[in-house]
Amino acid sequence: MSKKKLARGTLLLKNDVASINYAARIIRRGGTVAFPTETVYGLGASALDPAAIEKVFQAKGRPTDNPLIVHIENSAALASVASFVPDMAYLLAEHFWPGPLSLVLLKSDFIPPAVCAGLSTVAVRVPDNHIALDLIRASAVPIAAPSANRSGRPSPTSWKHVLKDLAGSIDAVIRSPGCVIGVESTVLDLTSHDPVILRPGGVTREELEQVLNRKVAVAGASSDSETPLSPGTKYRHYTPEVPLILVTGSGVKVLKVVKALRQKYETRGLKIAVLEASLTAARFGRPADVKALASGLYGSLRSLENSGVDLIIAAAVKPRGIGMAVMNRLYKAADRVIKVC
Ligand code: AMP
Ligand code: MG
Repeated sequence: MSKKKLARGTLLLKNDVASINYAARIIRRGGTVAFPTETVYGLGASALDPAAIEKVFQAKGRPTDNPLIVHIENSAALASVASFVPDMAYLLAEHFWPGPLSLVLLKSDFIPPAVCAGLSTVAVRVPDNHIALDLIRASAVPIAAPSANRSGRPSPTSWKHVLKDLAGSIDAVIRSPGCVIGVESTVLDLTSHDPVILRPGGVTREELEQVLNRKVAVAGASSDSETPLSPGTKYRHYTPEVPLILVTGSGVKVLKVVKALRQKYETRGLKIAVLEASLTAARFGRPADVKALASGLYGSLRSLENSGVDLIIAAAVKPRGIGMAVMNRLYKAADRVIKVC
């Protein structure tokens, strides 16, 4: 490997074979490495090493009751991570792995309690990114990896976002493009009779329903008092350093209200940024626009917070397809939600 570059003590690695092998050695020795996935950057540590897992929680400032997702190379590795793997898990793995679907299953004794925040279950997935997969293979251990941001911040979709939040607190980051989906994985609970989406994400409810040939419930969707089955869902998340107002309601009216709000605050001398991709997606509602919104969401929030604006305004999109994950993130990021009737 060429000369080592550091950012406040965090090693900056390339994404070639030698660097990935080096990163794998860090993981095997109990260190922490941020790596790209198709969803967002993950902060990885050996899922078999409680001391390494503790470093992940420390670096992120993550509440210890919020479990981590375990990343494996393929569905053959499921048997070592989970104590029971229902047929439905294999069916879903066949269709969606590698990909942005995390399955919650009963955990095996190999996985230490710290990974799962003391729960009897484990969330597991196979990422669709060759660097992530090479890293898991070279490490020869399952890798527990939450998003590589400080807890509560927008998730990172580039190595620069990772450094902004975690330089000096983690051992290394692999520099690479790759987070094309831009929002995290869908977390699907398979431990009860009926599958339940605990967190909407990159694999849509519609896609799951098509493969399973049945309706799939979304936790909290039917009531205002969301029952947070997935521990992480109860925390404030994804918040930029600048306040965000989310305008929800039907298409045209939302656009009008966004425009009016912008004028109102600008006349008060405030610098306003509108999340343009949300306006485009709200105006046209085309799947490609909503995908583009998801893909650029965290990057836009992070660049807007650095642009000297006082307030960000976002327009709601229909909670269909990947729009459900986008709306879930926007609701959590928002300081204020204005509902237009
Ligand atoms: P992150 O890795 O930061 O994207 O967050 C992982 C998400 O998966 C959080 O919302 C966790 O609460 C959720 N999660 C991880 N493991 C489990 C589990 N065993 N049961 C339910 N939810 C889980
Ligand atoms: Mg996260």
